[in-house]
Amino acid sequence: MKAYYDIVLKKRNGRELTREEINYLINGFVSGSIPDYQMAAWAMAVYFQGLSEEETIYLTEAMINSGDTVDLSPIPGCKVDKHSTGGVADTATLILVPLVAAAGVSVVKMSGRGLGHTGGTSDKLKSIPGFCTDLDIDTIFKLVRKSGAVMAGQTGNLVPADKKLYALRDVTATVDIIPLIASSVMSKKIAAGADKILLDVKVGKGAFMKTREQAMELARTMVKIGTGMNRETVALITNMDQPLGNAIGNALEVKEAILILRGDLKGDLYDLSIELAAEMLLMAKAVRCRIEAKSLLKGLIEDGKAAEKFAEIIENQGGNPAVIEDLSLLPNAPLVTPVLASEDGYIWELDAEKLGRAAMILGAGREYKEQEILLEVGIILNKRIGDEVNGGESILDIHSVNPYNLDAAFELISEAIKIKAEKPQKYPLIFDRIAE
Ligand code: URA
Ligand code: CA
Repeated sequence: MKAYYDIVLKKRNGRELTREEINYLINGFVSGSIPDYQMAAWAMAVYFQGLSEEETIYLTEAMINSGDTVDLSPIPGCKVDKHSTGGVADTATLILVPLVAAAGVSVVKMSGRGLGHTGGTSDKLKSIPGFCTDLDIDTIFKLVRKSGAVMAGQTGNLVPADKKLYALRDVTATVDIIPLIASSVMSKKIAAGADKILLDVKVGKGAFMKTREQAMELARTMVKIGTGMNRETVALITNMDQPLGNAIGNALEVKEAILILRGDLKGDLYDLSIELAAEMLLMAKAVRCRIEAKSLLKGLIEDGKAAEKFAEIIENQGGNPAVIEDLSLLPNAPLVTPVLASEDGYIWELDAEKLGRAAMILGAGREYKEQEILLEVGIILNKRIGDEVNGGESILDIHSVNPYNLDAAFELISEAIKIKAEKPQKYPLIFDRIAE
């Protein structure tokens, strides 16, 4: 008890903890010898006093050591993992895995069930009839060797310290602390076996980080952890004021990913996917320069190789690859309700956070862990910020299964949309790139 007391007092007084002290804290918390209220006091002390670069790395190491780690070394080549800090209509993972694999770089994607506006990548993939993400490690290795890509749920007991600490932070107002977010994210990526890590740090209305300064600080902290632990890490800071893609919802996002992989849809999601995939190829040293990477990736989309790779992944994992050609094989919502522009003008705002919450009300996402989600519901944007609109034109379509929760969703959607007479200033999609 004394040892714990001294550690939290030391942090409260703004002094730096040693590696041993941080190990003691995390091990004690996971084993149960340090109770929640003591750990909560430490997290709050971190909010006021911060963590040094070294402390943040020690914390990440201690969290990784709390559980299993995945060893991807049997797979030849450099394994680059991509992580997004979470946004709305962020379908990039579904696009990147087949696209990067089609370019010859192996990708092992392991994702959990998500909490939030839509399900996680594993939930989205369940919209593909037959698709199985529940794979053991031998099957994961076998499929990556065969096709260069696999999309699995999480295997093993990765970073149990994070599960426990995150649940505690969630109820003690200690989630939004940059070194704690950074060590939470990086411990999971490193435990999952990545050689190199690409981070998409979202900033804006629909993101954790509301200002560019915060996003830059989070990105720098994560890059320092990664490089400090011998994992080359690069971060892009990207715009999340409006949804990234046009589709919010599980099956709707799978359809959008397929359209982009087929070369039938362009826009912000396509552009960012190309940028992220190019970074991954550069990190894996599969190309000489960014220009070569981007032209290779765009070519793979135009000549059908990227869509073909997605079909192969789907077939490998028990799904029906015909969905690539025929989107109607994916779940469709019976009710489609357009939301019309009230006046002429330009779309000034499409608040990603409010639209995300509306999709969740429709049933696309979950607020608590065991909640069922509806795969077919969500929102399709027909307009984006800066687009001209005429009164009576459809700004977006609501896809739902019953009329009951439409009113609540509609109210949030109305708040999310702003139309003005003048054209808004165009914001860049990518604000910055952070590397060591
Ligand atoms: N996402 C995470 O994985 N961890 C955090 O602490 C916050 C967001
Ligand atoms: Ca085409």
